[in-house]
Amino acid sequence: MKNFPASESMPTLAILDEDSSSSGDDTPTTTPTPRTRTTVAHAASMADMAGLSLSDDDSSEEGGERRAPRANTVPPHMGHKKVLVTGGAGFVGSNVAEQLLARGDDVVIVDEMNDYYDVRIKENNLRRLREMYPEDKRLAIYRGDICDEDFMLQLFEKERPQWVCHMAARAGVRPSIQDPFVYIHSNIRGTTHLMELSHKFGVKNFVFASSSSVYGGSKNTFFSEDENVDNPVSPYAASKKACELLAYTYHHLYNLNVSGLRFFTVYGPRGRPDMAPFKFIDRVSRGLELQQFGDGSSSRDYTYIDDIVDGVLRAIDRPHKYEMFNLGKGSGTSLKEFLDIVQSHVGKKAIIKIMPDQPGDVPYTCADVSKAYDLLGYKATVPFSEGIRRTVDWYLNDYGKNSCIEPETQANGMGRAPSFAEIRNAVNA
Ligand code: NAD
Repeated sequence: MKNFPASESMPTLAILDEDSSSSGDDTPTTTPTPRTRTTVAHAASMADMAGLSLSDDDSSEEGGERRAPRANTVPPHMGHKKVLVTGGAGFVGSNVAEQLLARGDDVVIVDEMNDYYDVRIKENNLRRLREMYPEDKRLAIYRGDICDEDFMLQLFEKERPQWVCHMAARAGVRPSIQDPFVYIHSNIRGTTHLMELSHKFGVKNFVFASSSSVYGGSKNTFFSEDENVDNPVSPYAASKKACELLAYTYHHLYNLNVSGLRFFTVYGPRGRPDMAPFKFIDRVSRGLELQQFGDGSSSRDYTYIDDIVDGVLRAIDRPHKYEMFNLGKGSGTSLKEFLDIVQSHVGKKAIIKIMPDQPGDVPYTCADVSKAYDLLGYKATVPFSEGIRRTVDWYLNDYGKNSCIEPETQANGMGRAPSFAEIRNAVNA
């Protein structure tokens, strides 16, 4: 087993040995290039800078109407970076880390490996990265709480990251209603602590994950960053809004460059097992009953992981003084459509139990992504049906065949995540 960097008082993440047991679809413009696992010369995320240059041929509006480009675009930083990725064992963080490494940046991951969902999924994410990048110089992994002052101070002193991509958080709306305090700790205290260190260590850009849930019960068709978001309807949403406010304060007091990214339901291979895309694919595949909350007309903007990673990298490369960005697909999918698409890709009929709407859930989310397009050049490219097809493919051929996960019993998040063993049995049945 590899030794990971640590100072004496710094908790070190021990990666498991292989044998350890503890362990109305929209149309895309292009198909994203498959990710490379090899180290390549650094290239900032500027392969497609359409949104920044807005040439004469370019129109960011469906239907051809042209918007004036926003004024405060910034040129992307092109050089090599050492990026601190908090929550790097999680779904989004591990994918961002992979892409940063693939393009030539060095990555420092910190994650407390909490059991909000099966920890072995996070361990698998880290093991995968470590296998691709065995050198400590390229990839350093630390296990610890971002709120632990000594631990984080030592990490900053040792690693001196100039770029921070803060993805660590307690995620999930419903669990935050049951236990708000853990959300206050990880999300508000944790983000404040990181910004405090970031300004003291002269970080060039602090990018953090906010959430579409800040829009609460907005009645608008498209959620825009210009909207007032003073009415969060869950502790999770309130914690993200609080991070956005504190981010402004750190920008104001210390000139810390901060961009907050409001993700709209992220899904894809290695996605979170507590979230609807994974749960629906899983339950339909295994012929198990699934719960549909509401009458099926509620609609969400689901964003494929590769598009989110692209948006995160664009935000890292472009240090804005203080901005919030929606990162979504920019179109909604109703629950009913969603289930139809899952059934068609899985090739099985869903057994559906209709349940009442859940408190705290937002009935409709759809991102206005024009600001991210204008200032970051961001544009989602993966249509929902294609994203679900890839996710089903991963579920059946990769997740389902992974033999290292045994049945797990935790029931946090939105319910127990299925074990690989259970899935294998169902798939082989
Ligand atoms: P995730 O739970 O898979 O990853 C978060 C990681 O943060 C976990 O590995 C967890 O162990 C770690 N973490 C939590 N608290 C920590 C702490 N105090 N110290 C160190 N590590 C800690 O979630 P994700 O889906 O990858 O989400 C990433 C970010 O994006 C989160 O901030 C989340 O709130 C936000 N977000 C996600 C979605 C989505 O659909 N996935 C939507 C909106 C916003």
